[in-house]
Amino acid sequence: MKDYYEILGVSRGADQEEIKKAYRRLARLHHPDVSTSDDDGGDRFKEISKAYEVLSDPEKRRRYDLLGDEGLSASPYGSPFEGFGGSFGDIFNIFFGRGQPGFARAPRRGSDLLAVVEISLVEAYAGTVRELEMPRSETCDECGGTGLASGFDHDLCPDCGGEGKTVHTRRSAFGAFTSSTTCRRCGGAGEINTHPCPACDGRGAARIIDKVQVNIPAGVDDGDRVRLPGRGEAGHMGGAAGDLYVEVRVAEHETFTRRGSDLHAVISVEISEAALGTEIEVTTLNGEERLQIPAGSQPGDVFRLRGKGMPSVRSQRKGDIYLTLEVRVPRKLSAEQKRLLKEFQRIESGKKDSPGIVGRLRKAIRQEY
Ligand SMILES: [Zn+2]
Ligand SMILES: [Zn+2]
Repeated sequence: MKDYYEILGVSRGADQEEIKKAYRRLARLHHPDVSTSDDDGGDRFKEISKAYEVLSDPEKRRRYDLLGDEGLSASPYGSPFEGFGGSFGDIFNIFFGRGQPGFARAPRRGSDLLAVVEISLVEAYAGTVRELEMPRSETCDECGGTGLASGFDHDLCPDCGGEGKTVHTRRSAFGAFTSSTTCRRCGGAGEINTHPCPACDGRGAARIIDKVQVNIPAGVDDGDRVRLPGRGEAGHMGGAAGDLYVEVRVAEHETFTRRGSDLHAVISVEISEAALGTEIEVTTLNGEERLQIPAGSQPGDVFRLRGKGMPSVRSQRKGDIYLTLEVRVPRKLSAEQKRLLKEFQRIESGKKDSPGIVGRLRKAIRQEY
């Protein structure tokens, strides 16, 4: 039985970095898909991989140093997974989903999230607070997002020797064809996690329901977004978390229509009120306002309440309220109202006729009948 240190060509005191380097160099030379000169059916590569598997694992290495191969067979890491038809890196890849392409050791920022809340125009006027429950991932405290058990590092992938891809050479009558595919074991990362963090099972993050308090500022408009830094998905390998964006929808108001920071509405008065003038009460978004309708006001007249519109998110300035006058024409009249309106009409036509002698004559004739 050859010595594992000898196989890798390192000293007994070699550190993890040296072992990794030696393995990477040898694996590249003797990988069965690459090696053409001394075709040994991959035996040399298997030997190298076995040596690396033992020496790169601090616990296995300690046992090997102490007891040799015997120590390894007694190891708790020894064989329970062999029955699955591979060494346990495969199993962990299946369990912990590290095989996806694109997985890399480099820290990556987490994704942003988007939530939508609907508020009323009154809430938009005054500003409001909403509580949301956002499902998202959060970096594991135990491992800081690396997914590794404390004191362990990633191991070089024994299938591809850290290359992340495997090269296949096919020989035919026409020559040798080489093609390379992403390594199935490490998903192209070149490294695998054989010591997953017990708290997160190697995922580096856990799913949580985040209770988020969203402060929605006064003056917020439909479609505005509030950003909550760091409340998005957890980063990968210790990378920063993404942000949460909360999009605000402002529901339609029964009275007011918003245009920028101004509010528009219609007010209505009776014919007599428009003619004689009146005072009405207008319910704005923050209370009652008295409004004078002067005598002789016309339908379509616009009245302005300065500074009673929407506040601005960015400045102190408030918009105005614009009120368009509508004059109500009665649909039904009582006998008394009818008499008075006829009287009104008579006076109106009298007014028209009044100037001139002809008018006065006509009036006289009518009165005789
Ligand atoms: Zn690999
Ligand atoms: Zn963890």
